Amino acid sequence: MRKLLLGDEAIAQAAIDAGLSGVYAYPGTPSTEITEFIQLREEKRGDAENKICCRWATNEKTAMEGALGMSYMGKRALVCMKHVGMNVAADPFVNSAMTGVNGGLVVVAADDPSMHSSQNEQDSRFYGKFAMMPIFEPSNQQEAYEMTRAAFELSEAVKLPVLMRVTTRMAHSRAVVEVTETPRKQNEINRPEDVRTWILLPAFAKKRYVQLLAQQDDLMKASVESKYNFYRKGTNPERGVIATGIAYNYYMENCANCEERSVLKVSQYPLPVALIEKMVEDGAKEILVMEEGQPVVEEMVRAIVPSTVAVKGRLTGDLPRVGELNPDSVRKSLGMAALERLEADDIVVARPPALCQGCGHRDMYKALNEVAAEYENPRIFGDIGCYTLGALPPFQALHACVEMGASITMAKGASDAGQFPAFAVIGDSTFTHSGITGLLDCVNSKANVVIVISDNLTTGMTGGQDSAGTGKIEDICRGVGVAPEHVRVVVPLPKNMEEIKNILREEIEYNGVSVVIPRRECIQTAKRHAKARAAAKNE
Ligand code: SF4
Repeated sequence: MRKLLLGDEAIAQAAIDAGLSGVYAYPGTPSTEITEFIQLREEKRGDAENKICCRWATNEKTAMEGALGMSYMGKRALVCMKHVGMNVAADPFVNSAMTGVNGGLVVVAADDPSMHSSQNEQDSRFYGKFAMMPIFEPSNQQEAYEMTRAAFELSEAVKLPVLMRVTTRMAHSRAVVEVTETPRKQNEINRPEDVRTWILLPAFAKKRYVQLLAQQDDLMKASVESKYNFYRKGTNPERGVIATGIAYNYYMENCANCEERSVLKVSQYPLPVALIEKMVEDGAKEILVMEEGQPVVEEMVRAIVPSTVAVKGRLTGDLPRVGELNPDSVRKSLGMAALERLEADDIVVARPPALCQGCGHRDMYKALNEVAAEYENPRIFGDIGCYTLGALPPFQALHACVEMGASITMAKGASDAGQFPAFAVIGDSTFTHSGITGLLDCVNSKANVVIVISDNLTTGMTGGQDSAGTGKIEDICRGVGVAPEHVRVVVPLPKNMEEIKNILREEIEYNGVSVVIPRRECIQTAKRHAKARAAAKNE
């Protein structure tokens, strides 16, 4: 059966076909569509049998832990996140290699080289290597489908999670994918017989770590023999190319005489060292390493080959050190001219991103900026979401924005250092993702901060997924100890501007933790909900 699928959808379809019982994820570009595909399919099916658990998690750490619990029960589980989510999930992710798995566990990390929608270009392969677990890196959508199914099999065979690393172009481009017509059934519940590996007390963990180290030879053997890795000697073996994941596609699309160079395709890790040594034995004097993301493999190859072999790639400037690969950069690294371009008038003129017209965040920033301007040196610490666009004109409201949840704790740190007034601006979904613990820090040290939780009742930036805190934000704030009279809810509309500004002024003058919650539904989500209601009425 053939389907036209995004790379993300190919992974989702493969997981379903592999007998998935639960997907655990927090939305983040470019990984969101994996979970949405599974959710949509579950809604359409409406069938209680073989149900897949697919609610959004509060953050990537809880997602990883939920999946580990599902795996503990012998069922197959999938975890999905964008690359920076791996930082949040790192604790259970690294320790899941120590516990090992019971049911197959696949972790998808979608990296965003060129930072289309992210704050950095970190490469998730480092995490897989660090945790000493197998990594899959598909080169096209068909491989993404096949490798996801193979990843569940491998995970259960070696009793380890498998990291599936994709990048934006793989996740968000569409291709015809051949899928199975006979999906696998879900695993039955099968609890671990020996729970000692699941209890990471030092006495058990020490033994388990030795086992994990001993497994590395088998994982390497699996990589060398993997059908997703292969080596071909060239007609001029003095020149070699190592191409990983989607970079292999770039190479094959652009090489003029592809038989000339020896080629090693790498899509399964640990890096198949024996195949690199074979390339050298065959006479390689120069090896060009093409990889999307950071020079993970290039660094390792330098340590493997003799110093007489020139290793080229992103570290040597033969390929750009930053950003995605593209046909031009790949052709240049191969000594070829860039492709001729067709000149065409700009059809769509580029424009800076902006908050939607009518968005509640706009009214919140207008009020906040006007009140902040009444003070000599205000500082507003921002966070990750649509409202990060408040850093750009016309508002230019933010003085910092680092990562999920940092607004609250940075405002606290600045206040500790003497900043007044110190504001944090955070969304409802980001608040429950990573802001609650920061708020507790503020309460415990009686920090003098004003925290604005701009509540649009959804996860707006990634397309309007459910927000874990909807209907609970005030209770959470009061529950961690914010004085009830300093948890203030307002409706961010132009007609309420004076009221919002007065509330902000009162809370700035209160020496302690204040939370102001401007609450109005994201207008895009509201439109979608209205459409769905109208459709339901017409049925
Ligand atoms: S998507 Fe929603 S929250 Fe985001 S800017 Fe538009 S209206 Fe505002």
